[in-house]
Amino acid sequence: MQTKLVKIKDSENIKDEELSEAARILREGGLVAFPTETVYGLGANALNEDAAKKIYAAKGRPSDNPLIAHISCMEELEPLVAEIPEAGRKLAEAYWPGPLTMVFPKSSIVPYGTTGGLDTVAVRMPKDPVANRLIALAGVPVAAPSANTSGRPSPTTAQHVWQDMEGKIEMILDGGPVGIGVESTIVDVSGPVPTLLRPGAVTMEMLRATVGEVETDPALLGPPGADFRPKAPGMKYRHYAPHAELTLLEGPLEAVVGRINFLAKEKLGQKYRVGVICTDETRDRYRYGEIRSVGQRAHEETIAHNLFAVLREFDDLDVDYIYSESFSKDHLGQAIMNRLTKAAGYHIMKVQ
Ligand code: AMP
Ligand code: MG
Repeated sequence: MQTKLVKIKDSENIKDEELSEAARILREGGLVAFPTETVYGLGANALNEDAAKKIYAAKGRPSDNPLIAHISCMEELEPLVAEIPEAGRKLAEAYWPGPLTMVFPKSSIVPYGTTGGLDTVAVRMPKDPVANRLIALAGVPVAAPSANTSGRPSPTTAQHVWQDMEGKIEMILDGGPVGIGVESTIVDVSGPVPTLLRPGAVTMEMLRATVGEVETDPALLGPPGADFRPKAPGMKYRHYAPHAELTLLEGPLEAVVGRINFLAKEKLGQKYRVGVICTDETRDRYRYGEIRSVGQRAHEETIAHNLFAVLREFDDLDVDYIYSESFSKDHLGQAIMNRLTKAAGYHIMKVQ
């Protein structure tokens, strides 16, 4: 298949003609990758089971890993869900459109092929003007997981999508680099207490400020064990994995910097390629390997924004070992550490 790359001229001022072919492809059961404010999504008609199957095939994604249905406005929510619980209503009012996905009991029109066999459906209303207008023009809810090969870091530019999806999908809309850079927050509102399934830019602190009590899914707290039965099938899969073995170092920053220098020097001596993930604040203190600052500690949104691009760059450089600083687990730091921990396959080294 030939993949068409369409550049959006000005995302703040899109003309419907720029999106009409993409909308038609979606309506007719094809695949279109498009920018959202979180990461690039790989879209298909969420109500068409055959279209959803194409997403799983293009990504190489296990078919029990459910998809998020994207809508453009509140009226499009009702047909997809059996009920809108009070917490869901409040969170939608506070954070939609935006980087928040909510899990509802599903209605009968949502096929099990989209939900990975679950009786619930995950729904998000993106704010990105290209994504939002595209969904409105398609006239159908759009299932859109991240537009990467399953297991690779999520794409934050159209070039990342091209690397993974060229020849496998009909079209890629290039709206430039995304804003946030990590996937949406996911909250399950289908039970008695809202439960955080995946941290993102709508932080735990923000959720609690809106609805009070919010629980954390146990799957977020540690590595999946042998008898692990996750709420969402997707939680059992390794995600965001770079080719290299990534080690996350935790402890006082001083000690972390010292140990990373030590480990990087040692591996270089053994003729391995080494990558170091640091920050603007510590950049000058590293001496060995390919050193990349992921952003500023003082502005964590810069770290979220650059994280996946840095992991992909290390794949391109074919490094064997990556050593990374770690971050606080509050606010946006929770999402950053969640992605880094998974990328590291829970390989964490404590130093002091
Ligand atoms: P993404 O990989 O960004 O497409 O996000 C998909 C993830 O959303 C899945 O791996 C699940 O963790 C979560 N998800 C989607 N649908 C549901 C659902 N019905 N119930 C719980 N989690 C869901
Ligand atoms: Mg993904």
